[in-house]
Amino acid sequence: MQVPASFQYRKATSVEHALALLAEYGPESAVVAGGHSLLPMMKLRLAHPEALIDINDLGELAGIRVEDGELVIGAMARHADLLRHAEAGELFPILHDAERVIADPIVRNRGTVGGSLCQADPSEDLSAVFAALRASLVVHGSDGPRTVPARDFFVGPYQTVLAGGELLGEIRVPIRARDTSGSSAYVKVDRRAGDWAVAAAGAVVSVENGMVADVGIGLTALGAERFVAAEAEDFLRGGPPTEAGFVEAGRIAAEHCRPAADQRGPVDYKRHLAGELVTRALRHAVGRAAGRVR
Ligand SMILES: Cc1cc2nc3c(=O)[nH]c(=O)nc-3n(C[C@H](O)[C@H](O)[C@H](O)COP(=O)(O)OP(=O)(O)OC[C@H]3O[C@@H](n4cnc5c(N)ncnc54)[C@H](O)[C@@H]3O)c2cc1C
Repeated sequence: MQVPASFQYRKATSVEHALALLAEYGPESAVVAGGHSLLPMMKLRLAHPEALIDINDLGELAGIRVEDGELVIGAMARHADLLRHAEAGELFPILHDAERVIADPIVRNRGTVGGSLCQADPSEDLSAVFAALRASLVVHGSDGPRTVPARDFFVGPYQTVLAGGELLGEIRVPIRARDTSGSSAYVKVDRRAGDWAVAAAGAVVSVENGMVADVGIGLTALGAERFVAAEAEDFLRGGPPTEAGFVEAGRIAAEHCRPAADQRGPVDYKRHLAGELVTRALRHAVGRAAGRVR
């Protein structure tokens, strides 16, 4: 059985306390949330923090609420909390589409939304989802809170803009004006139920006066810069939301992403999936907005 190297363990009782503990233990400390990514890495000795700061008691970071025209999701909200939250699913169906296919109920009961984003695994589903939604991330540090657009949060595989001693506090998703016809969807191909994605795509579309007013397209496990298909978004914005447009957007996304060959499939297959899944996500999102599909 693999065991991690020895480490100190401290339980934070508030955000301020967590920040103080991170400052006290310095760069060799790490926050532990659900532990579903960090603990396996510690057992494999791929991560070896000297101190773990446990933030599981921070109820202030666990809530999900609507506030000031935004859906606010605490970093410590579990995947299962988000999946159970009816209003979040009604406002942004992409959230429930993705949460339904993340791992299994055991992982979803423990793993957190914030931990998923901070892990920045290229196969993590929520990174692409929040990039497509153009969410903002509120980060706490010794100089007070700062807000980072989700698209600027990820700087590479397993790398974020979080500096040592900083804590992700919440994710804020802007709610569209009620008179805008828009919706969202996430579609994923995995080898078996609950597995990591071979590839996945999310789309968030708003339509005004028969034209695409804005669109966000996120890609999972496809090597897209910052998890976004920016060229496909540019192609669609301002044009009519047609099937031919969705197919062309898929083609553009497939052309610009950089999937890597691995045990889940070769590059050509993943590129094919990128095109198909972007088209399907767009079709589904616009179909939902028009009330044609659920
Ligand atoms: C069997 C299995 C299958 C899985 N399948 C999928 C899947 O299909 N799709 C998917 O997206 N995910 C999948 N996951 C990952 C799952 O979503 C995890 O919950 C997630 O990766 C990490 O969340 P966590 O709360 O466990 O974070 P932890 O493991 O506790 O932390 C992960 C990293 O983030 C840091 N961190 C955590 N919270 C914060 C914070 N608030 N501020 C700053 N840093 C923080 C930690 O220091 C650590 O570096 C799977 C996991 C397992 C074990």
